[in-house]
Order: sequence, then structure tokens, then C-alpha cells
Amino acid sequence: MSSGIIFDIKHYSINDGPGIRTTVFFKGCPLHCAWCHNPESISPLPQKMYNEKKCIGCKECVKACPENACTLTPAGIITDVDLCTSCGKCADVCPTLATEMSGRIAEVEEILLVVEKDRPFYEESGGGVTFSGGEPTRQAKFLLELLKECGARKLHRAVDTCGLVKQETMLAVAEECDHFLFDLKHMDTEKHRLWTGSGNELIHENLRALARRGAVISIRIPLIAGINADEKNIEESARFLASLEGQKVAVNLLPYHDIAVNKYKRLGKEYDSSQMLEPTEERVKQIIEQFAEVGLAASVGG
Ligand code: SF4
Ligand code: SF4
Repeated sequence: MSSGIIFDIKHYSINDGPGIRTTVFFKGCPLHCAWCHNPESISPLPQKMYNEKKCIGCKECVKACPENACTLTPAGIITDVDLCTSCGKCADVCPTLATEMSGRIAEVEEILLVVEKDRPFYEESGGGVTFSGGEPTRQAKFLLELLKECGARKLHRAVDTCGLVKQETMLAVAEECDHFLFDLKHMDTEKHRLWTGSGNELIHENLRALARRGAVISIRIPLIAGINADEKNIEESARFLASLEGQKVAVNLLPYHDIAVNKYKRLGKEYDSSQMLEPTEERVKQIIEQFAEVGLAASVGG
């Protein structure tokens, strides 16, 4: 069986598809959205994360680093990113978990054992397994094998996707998937490119193709005032979604929150949230009405 790189497995999730779910987070994403809540998911490789609040200055990591990439300074440990090979030896010796690695190789068998343990919760709640990320379709062989194995075990399977993948791969995933959680970020392709690093044409084509083949789809829209929560973008999103073939999609609205700041800091990355605002409750209500006008049920969360 194959293996892939994941960065987390979350149990008892109630926001990643129907019922209570186990969510497996794949590493690596073709987009780099400015508001990403999981910045550690973007790189396909393991990454070092450092929390200076937990650091006791013991210098164990400095001694363990084979590349001499770690230096203890008055501001805590500084890592020379040009020298660091992400080997993880610093994290192995850190006594306080101030230094940790995000991302590890996992085998299909290992993940199956983990998800099987939660089976009673799935049966009780109508839940199952969700493959998220990052972008799970980026590790297509690993994802397809997991989906097939879960299917053979009669586990409900959801895939959370940004949609940016070859259509052939998306349709192969659809053969083995019971429910898609599909992100829609901006209808204007240039604005989509500006905020995520890629245009939206292939994403929309893939969504149309999934709808055409009758896939069960929940659309997830991150709602960010200043970027995509304006009347025009929501109106265009609503019209586009209402025009899809197949069964009506559910629309899950995910209002922006500035909660990922610390993760960016721990990765040593800049986070510029100056143009991103939480939408007001009033605006969210209006957005729900905009979707209702075209016959689509939108709700917050999910
Ligand atoms: S991950 Fe490896 S190379 Fe990078 S700082 Fe830690 S020990 Fe050094
Ligand atoms: S090993 Fe951990 S606690 Fe010790 S100096 Fe390094 S980061 Fe800080």
C-alpha cells in the first residue's frame, strides 16, 4: 500500500461533512490563499514550527542540529532557513515541544487503523472520514487508495478540495467519494489569482463536471469582507451555483476570523491581514438572502 504526507488527524469533527467525522489533513496545496487558516498545509514537505513561549533556552536543539542552523538569541531560537533541511532532529530532542515538525509520512494501513477506531461514532451520527488539507487530490495515488479502502469497509467518504487539479484526477476521485466539500473563493479570475495565486477557470470547470455526474456537493465559501463578501461577487457566485446541473448544492459560509496569526509566526512567515475583515452579522444575513433568491440554502459553518 502507498504512503503520503499528512500534518494532522482530527477526531470527532462536526464541521467537515455530515455527522461526526475523522478528518485527515494532507500536506501540500496548489493555492496559497492570503487568509489560509492552515499555513502549514501549503508546503508539500515537513516544516519546522517554533513557539518561543514554550522555549526554556536549553540549547538541546542547537546541539542536535547537524547543519548548525539553530542559534539561541535573546528573542529565542532563530533558524537559518537556507541551512535547515527539515530533518526534524531539533524537534526530536526539544523537551518542551517548543520546536515541532508539521508533516510526516503516513501509510494507508496506519490511517485505516486510526479511522476504524472511530467507527462507532460514524454509525451513531451518520458520519465518516474526510480527507482535507492542504489539497488531498495533490497526492492522488495515496488519496485514491485510502478512498477505495474506506469504501471497501463501508465508511462514508468526503473529500475537501480547492478544485485545482486535472479534471481526469477529479473524476477518478469522484468514483470513490460520497460527498465533496468544494471551495469557492472568488468569481473574478484575476482577483482569484491575486488572492490565491491561481485563476479560477479549471476550478469552475471541475465543479461543473462533478455536478454534471451527480456528485453530492457542499460548497464552502470563506467570507472575507474586503475581498469576496461584496454584493457583486456573492450575486455572481449564487448565479453560478444555481446554474450547476445535478442536485442542488448546499452552501456553507465560513466567515473570516483572524485566528491563524500564531501559526504564521511559528512557521516564521509574514501574515498581512490588513485588507481582510470579518463580515458583519448583518452582511452575513444579507448574503444568506442573496443565495435564497436563487433557490439555494446557505448557512454559516459546516
Ligand atoms: S530541522 Fe534539522 S536542519 Fe532544520 S533546524 Fe532542525 S535539526 Fe537543523
Ligand atoms: S530544545 Fe526546545 S526548549 Fe530547548 S532551546 Fe531548543 S526550542 Fe528551546
